[in-house]
Amino acid sequence: MYKKGLCWIRRDIRLYDHHALSAALKNCQEVYIAFVFDEHILKKLPEDDQRVTFIYDSLMEVESLLNEKGSSVIIAHGDPIKEIPRIFQEFNCDALFFNKDFEPYALKRDKEVKSKIPNAFDYLDHVLFEPDAILNGKNEVYKVFTPYKNKWLTYFSQQEKQVPNYQCPLKNIAQWKNKQSIKKFDWAREIGFSLTPSELKGGTSEAKKKLKNFEKKIPNYAKDRDYPIIEGTSNLSAYIRHGNISIRTMIKACSHQNSSGAQTWLSELIWREFYQMILFHFPHIEKKSFKPEYDNIKWRGEKKHLKAWKEGKTGFPLVDAAMRCLNQTGQMHNRLRMIVASFLCKTLLINWQEGEKYFALKLLDFDLAANNGGWQWSSSSGCDAQPYFRIFNPYSQSEKFDKNAEFIKKFCPELAGFSAKQIHAPHEADMLIQHEAKCLIGQDYPFPVVDYKKNRELALIMYQEVKS
Ligand SMILES: Cc1cc2nc3c(=O)[nH]c(=O)nc-3n(C[C@H](O)[C@H](O)[C@H](O)COP(=O)(O)OP(=O)(O)OC[C@H]3O[C@@H](n4cnc5c(N)ncnc54)[C@H](O)[C@@H]3O)c2cc1C
Repeated sequence: MYKKGLCWIRRDIRLYDHHALSAALKNCQEVYIAFVFDEHILKKLPEDDQRVTFIYDSLMEVESLLNEKGSSVIIAHGDPIKEIPRIFQEFNCDALFFNKDFEPYALKRDKEVKSKIPNAFDYLDHVLFEPDAILNGKNEVYKVFTPYKNKWLTYFSQQEKQVPNYQCPLKNIAQWKNKQSIKKFDWAREIGFSLTPSELKGGTSEAKKKLKNFEKKIPNYAKDRDYPIIEGTSNLSAYIRHGNISIRTMIKACSHQNSSGAQTWLSELIWREFYQMILFHFPHIEKKSFKPEYDNIKWRGEKKHLKAWKEGKTGFPLVDAAMRCLNQTGQMHNRLRMIVASFLCKTLLINWQEGEKYFALKLLDFDLAANNGGWQWSSSSGCDAQPYFRIFNPYSQSEKFDKNAEFIKKFCPELAGFSAKQIHAPHEADMLIQHEAKCLIGQDYPFPVVDYKKNRELALIMYQEVKS
């Protein structure tokens, strides 16, 4: 038994079903909780980054719960490699507890922290299985999703669906009051950020509310999940990313249901685990293609088209609506992520890493493993990606998944005067119709910045060059 334990929270901002916290509470007489605003991560973000607000709100909730128990979160700002050992010493702790993180930066950081603190323990928390737990017949890691998923499900059922619940009774939480509590001290301003209200409020209570609301929708998930205007998905990715809700809570919500919707949703959660596992074993994907030959592609795209893509001004309505939605809300529906990603690399002929970078800057749920996985899947450079010759047609995707153009009209209101039939390719409407729609193409809304059919052919050539 240790006297004073320190639990360092990072991408797991909650006080329930928390593996490291549970272990600390079991093994220490007294437990402190600390969070470090990491300068290495924050320095890359704009002043009004919504994720800082999301984290801030999440910490506020943790602080309130701790206050009820006579405790407080220790908050710091700086380099965790220095800050955690400093806090550890200042509070006379004798053991450190934290949950594992598989990102290359985090692995390096945690190794250094561990080397400075004698009793440091890490725990698996943000995925269900260790990255080398699910192996093929040759004891190798899977690089293809479906067999990985099948093995994952077998493994899961062998454990008789015994998903652990790491109890966190806060009885021995350290009794102390932080004078610089996140509630009273303006930490956001202190670390150079302005708090920006966002559509998603961080915190466990919000996450649980969302999950409760979504549980009713799970049976319809398989049918509804591809339509951006329908609220057919959980919208929980930002909460999972910041650990406001545990992955075990998510898995339990669908594993006791039998519907095809529940199976499909579980499958998406397994995709998440798959990408985490891939990043752990193949960290080069952070900077390079999974398949090395794809690093030789000669991207023919133009800078001005990247700008138009970012701003939602490409002249392809669904792509533009999706990008404007990302810029305004920090969120984007999965179907739209696939459409805009395919569009960037296979229609605008721009390196997928530019898109990956932009998503990393904007997404509230940005997660290196999932984002990289999504981009490498879309650009065909990934481990289990779509074939290079599969190119999403932005017009037919728009007609299929936003048939009545409700999503387009929400984010591109200048197009609202067009009929549902014409709005997907408004440049094809004659002048009379454009006048009636009160939207002149080239003036009120751009012409398509490229010719889709022509660029489709160029994309195929571009990819074939590195395949042969
Ligand atoms: C180009 C591209 C970039 C992406 N970037 C990210 C990212 O940075 N962060 C992120 O969490 N997801 C990312 N995704 C995956 C997916 O788009 C989001 O997880 C999903 O849209 C979140 O909405 P939801 O919470 O309603 O998901 P739901 O459909 O309700 O799914 C439940 C959970 O499963 C996980 N999940 C679902 N689909 C995937 C997937 N394909 N890959 C990995 N995990 C998945 C998420 O944690 C999600 O919250 C990306 C996909 C693409 C194509």
